Amino acid sequence: MSEENKTERIKCLIIGSGPAGYTAAIYAARADLKPIMYTGMEPGGQLTTTTEVDNFPGYPEGIDGPTMMVQLQQQAERFGTEVRIGMVTEVQLSKEVGGIHKACVDNKTWVEAETVIISTGATAKYLGIPSEQKLRGGGVSACAVCDGFFYKGQDVAIVGGGDTAAEEATYLANICNKVTMLVRKDEMRASKAMQHRVTSTKNIDLRYNTEIDEVLGEQVVDGLRMVNNQTQEKEEIAITGLFIAIGHKPNTDIFKGQLEMDETGYLITEPKTTKTNLPGVFASGDVQDKDYRQAVTAAGTGCMAALDAERYLATVESEEEVTA
Ligand code: NDP
Repeated sequence: MSEENKTERIKCLIIGSGPAGYTAAIYAARADLKPIMYTGMEPGGQLTTTTEVDNFPGYPEGIDGPTMMVQLQQQAERFGTEVRIGMVTEVQLSKEVGGIHKACVDNKTWVEAETVIISTGATAKYLGIPSEQKLRGGGVSACAVCDGFFYKGQDVAIVGGGDTAAEEATYLANICNKVTMLVRKDEMRASKAMQHRVTSTKNIDLRYNTEIDEVLGEQVVDGLRMVNNQTQEKEEIAITGLFIAIGHKPNTDIFKGQLEMDETGYLITEPKTTKTNLPGVFASGDVQDKDYRQAVTAAGTGCMAALDAERYLATVESEEEVTA
């Protein structure tokens, strides 16, 4: 094999470029693991689709999501992280302690890594109707905790009947004047306790058997046309914000059959660590967390993943020295 065709061998591969990936990169680079990050299809991750981030500690005036991600990238690069635009399309993960993991980038180049930190995140599901897509970022949001504050005292709506929708509806009800909640069936999927919270909150107007016909507004949301899917009756309401809470999909398709996942595809990690079921493979951020899903919690687990990777490499190296 000629020199240029040799597969690259690295100490630490980071897959994904959200707050978890960048924080892992900062720590791994400072520990001299010379991390290489592949950004994925959406460099910067979910935060690049939000406008203002007001709840990340250390930004008293808030910061817009894209700027924050650029700054995180610069911080990771300052310590020597190599950030590459590219999508990991396939992995062959080793089951052995000290084994080499392989990742294929953009279906063509293979990289070999002693450790892999997975921070591929999760993608919020949207309804997919044209008016919703048009107004994403103009009043349509998939994160009440991120964006609810901007609708203080206003009338908003939320779609979904699971725990997330129920939790976010009660969160919004504390901030907003009125929350109309659209549930497509005649019952909610949320736990009984969460349902009770919704039904006992006075300013939540709960509509069963109700779906969105169209989100109204040109540049920004100014209303909603709802349709009762039993009677086909339509009704328009004035709102300034629409929250979609119909679930997330963790970005774990390439790990199926190799890493342990729960029934919805979230990676399973050993409690209080970021260790997956395979040695040298760690998971951080939303890809392993369906409950908190915050930038700051993702960053926290990114830090943990880098520390776990560093410790793992130290153990492997000391075992190699003993057997040498
Ligand atoms: P879920 O998949 O549990 O619920 C999704 C909801 O969205 C369902 O009510 C579903 O309706 C509805 N929905 C899906 N597609 C559409 C559509 N196209 N139009 C209208 N409605 C739609 O997702 P969640 O994000 O709520 O929860 C994910 C997991 O995280 C769950 O296991 C949940 O328990 C957990 N969680 C726990 C929390 C807690 O314990 N505090 C907080 C948040 C989440 P339908 O029922 O008709 O399919």
